[in-house]
Amino acid sequence: MITVQYLEDAPELKTLDAGVVKKKLREAYQCLPFSHLLIGWNLPRGLLEACRIEAESLGIRFLRWHPLLTSDGTFEPRPEWQVISAGGGKVMGFRNMPEFTFVCPNHPQVQEAIVDRVSELVREGIYQGFFLDRIRFPSPSADPFNHLGCFCEHCFRKADRFGLDLMEVRRKILQLTQTEQGCVGLVQALLSEKQTSLDEPARQMVRAFLDFRQRSVTDFVSRVCGLLKQGNMEIGLDCFSPGLTRMVGQDLNSLSRVADWIKVMSYLHTMGPAGLPFELLGILDYLLTTTRLSVAQVLTLIRNVLDLPLPESRQELVALGLSSQALQVELRRGLDNCHAPLLVGIELVELDGVANPHPEQIKADLAGIKAMNVGGIAISWDLWHIPLTRLELVRQAYLEG
Ligand SMILES: [Zn+2]
Repeated sequence: MITVQYLEDAPELKTLDAGVVKKKLREAYQCLPFSHLLIGWNLPRGLLEACRIEAESLGIRFLRWHPLLTSDGTFEPRPEWQVISAGGGKVMGFRNMPEFTFVCPNHPQVQEAIVDRVSELVREGIYQGFFLDRIRFPSPSADPFNHLGCFCEHCFRKADRFGLDLMEVRRKILQLTQTEQGCVGLVQALLSEKQTSLDEPARQMVRAFLDFRQRSVTDFVSRVCGLLKQGNMEIGLDCFSPGLTRMVGQDLNSLSRVADWIKVMSYLHTMGPAGLPFELLGILDYLLTTTRLSVAQVLTLIRNVLDLPLPESRQELVALGLSSQALQVELRRGLDNCHAPLLVGIELVELDGVANPHPEQIKADLAGIKAMNVGGIAISWDLWHIPLTRLELVRQAYLEG
């Protein structure tokens, strides 16, 4: 299986020429024959129809790339639906962007609005399936105090049903983030169920909270997937890199039971949300700000708690990202936890300051992936920004190498 994501929402979409968009698709297919086209969620009608017809003539599956818990351009979340942090404020999206501003999966109005929206899309009969993106809580990596949620009234009520006192959890997080030792322990607990320096009651409380978050995401995603299955839709899910899923409320084990396949965003060289260097840098900088630990000490701490090979310096993390060995560790984790085929997201986009993958890196990463017996690869994350030479490279290294 090879999936390709195409035309995520952007102001320029309105100005694109259907002929140019189709040409890129055809040329991409000639470079690298893929099985699934995951088409953007907010395309002008004409462009969407042009891509659907092109996919049909190429004989590839046509799935909607759909952000579930953020805006899709038509579903417009209300501010009062946003995830609430332990500090009590709304968790703001990355750079305040709507596409990264998350709503709470436990809010009844959110559930109703999203179920309505997805049902309407299924009824339109355009798609053969859905690739669900943004199925998580906001990432707490850069600041657990302000970004770890949710503490809204609906979460309080749901947690109560499972015997979890969110008021106590909130108090504990506020207390932990006041001390150096507490910040370290909390970060460790976000990354691992076992390796944390928190005392036993605090460890159990954070653990119960993270379990509750995973359950909240799985419950709602399962409901949506049930609906999609009724409509005979194929389902793929977009998930964080396996070592970081728990931190954002994703449980690969339960999610993979309701989907046809799972894609993991184990992006080794991406300085943007979900990218491993970006998320790990967030954690690194958070601990550098809140504790007296050195860069080397924090990197050792993260390396140990995640059991993941990491660069030796901050600069190396930013400039080079992670190694193919790190990718194999992450894929092993993913394969051990998934009950559905696992697809590896490989970043091939050229986006200044976010992703500029080097040919040698791409080749090394693909060799690492090939050795792992995964279900396929997910060309990420938007063909529109991927030079065709990189797809040639993938064909040579992955299909023919
Ligand atoms: Zn909530």
